[in-house]
Amino acid sequence: MTQLKISGIIRESIVDGPGMRFVVFCQGCPHRCEGCHNPQTHDFEGGNYCSTERLVEEIKKDPIIKGVTFSGGEPFCQPEAFSGLADEVIKLGMNIYVYSGYTFEELVELGKTKPEVTELLKKCDVLVDGRYESDKRTLALPFRGSTNQRLIDVKKSFETGYAVELQADSE
Ligand code: SF4
Repeated sequence: MTQLKISGIIRESIVDGPGMRFVVFCQGCPHRCEGCHNPQTHDFEGGNYCSTERLVEEIKKDPIIKGVTFSGGEPFCQPEAFSGLADEVIKLGMNIYVYSGYTFEELVELGKTKPEVTELLKKCDVLVDGRYESDKRTLALPFRGSTNQRLIDVKKSFETGYAVELQADSE
């Protein structure tokens, strides 16, 4: 039974991607962005373990959930565990948004030595990428905290070989 180290969950959210979403906040983040809204998620020793099975049960309980979001902390610090959860979410026919302090390009580079990072990324539909930069804070862009962050269409980006941003009408 795979265990994920998580900081918490939100059962119903409309601010972490389109539609009603189940959000899993992973525990542990190396980025330490100034002004981070989730500082309790930074400590790799903190949080609690939760099994994939338990999270899937919770997701299945709510019929209005349309997708699942992996948020931070840094999900790509636990690529195998989140990849296992991604498999189950895909089986439920739901889409996956993943937040990362790494940019798409940094994740591709990281994936050259850690294939499990690429594996997780490829299972996600949209990557909200990059560190939170407080001097670029915005409330105007959907699902992002600062203007440097992008909504990356993961599948199209792997097809083309460079980061493709999601079209506004599909956000
Ligand atoms: S990457 Fe996200 S969770 Fe990590 S410090 Fe930056 S804003 Fe906070």
